[in-house]
Amino acid sequence: MNTEGTVTTQATPRITPRADVALMEGYHSPQLDVEVRLNTNESPVPPPDAWRTELADELDRLAWHRYPDRSALALRTAIGELHDVGPEQVFAANGSNEVLQTLCLTYGGGDRKAAVFEPTYALHSHIARICGTEVAEGERADDLTLDLAEVRRVMDQGEPAITFLCSPNNPTGLVESEETVRAVLASAPGLVVVDEAYAQFAPWSALSLVSEEVPLVVTRTYSKTWSMAAARLGYLIGPAWLVADLEKVVLPYHLDSCKQAAGRLALRHRAEMDARVAWLVEERDRLSAGLGQLPVHVWPSGANFVLFRPREADGAEVWHRLVERSVLVRNCSSWPRLDGCLRVTVGTRAEDDRFLAALGQVLDG
Ligand code: PMP
Repeated sequence: MNTEGTVTTQATPRITPRADVALMEGYHSPQLDVEVRLNTNESPVPPPDAWRTELADELDRLAWHRYPDRSALALRTAIGELHDVGPEQVFAANGSNEVLQTLCLTYGGGDRKAAVFEPTYALHSHIARICGTEVAEGERADDLTLDLAEVRRVMDQGEPAITFLCSPNNPTGLVESEETVRAVLASAPGLVVVDEAYAQFAPWSALSLVSEEVPLVVTRTYSKTWSMAAARLGYLIGPAWLVADLEKVVLPYHLDSCKQAAGRLALRHRAEMDARVAWLVEERDRLSAGLGQLPVHVWPSGANFVLFRPREADGAEVWHRLVERSVLVRNCSSWPRLDGCLRVTVGTRAEDDRFLAALGQVLDG
């Protein structure tokens, strides 16, 4: 601003981000206007009507002029009851991505490293780097399962402060066994994070391994099973001492009152959500079986999505031709180790049939 009160740009220095941020690519996930959207692993159906009514009633009584309950105690108590732990073992944030970010801000940074095993959820390494944490990258085996010899190599060389696992793994859909998670815990020198965004669709959860003595957290989200991707709410279950560390780092009042109410009220509808999960698992198996009839390689999935690779056609070309038919899946074809692969989210029966028919046509010629 000069003395006449007008803004001058001439002398403004060019503002640049931190050197490592300047070199980064952002997170990309194209959202196109199509009829069948099977690209972001959301629930294909909205939350129950009764939940909408209950939430509307509660919002009607909300004290908008007051800050929210900073400790989100009622929400954390309700989540804790769901998993048989007290609220002191629950940390909630704006989507499980913010939970992961808070973990990296707390236990990463400085000269610390975070270990990931590729291919896995891209945000693990992205968030770690944004938080100034170096990434120690390990490779999965040829069949995309976790290779314990490689895990030990990364642990010994990288000494990571944080080790990320993802079960079921996004984008492969593969579930880590209890034996594997225990083996990783035994060799990891720091915190082990098991990202369980899709665990409700899988036969096993690492939640049974969480205790005050074990440096393990399990992260969960409302975005998939609870049909609440729009609300942006996620949480972790972990030792109480770890939750206390995270509370020091996260911004005060980070969870608004609407979200706290939405998350708490959703848990009253557990029976309906369990029924939906059972239905989605059945539908996933039907979708996988349908894919198995086509000339594609299909990975077994414990999640609400399926990874596949056309055997003879080019993955990116198939993706474009599906979009032309108004069907959007995730294009993983240029991701490291996933040459030519596509990932499809389980939708409604009608959406999945549209997808299978469109894919059949595309692969036919
Ligand atoms: N973890 C994994 C493995 C995911 O796939 C996703 C969503 N794509 C998330 C975390 C983030 O979920 P949220 O919507 O809770 O931030």
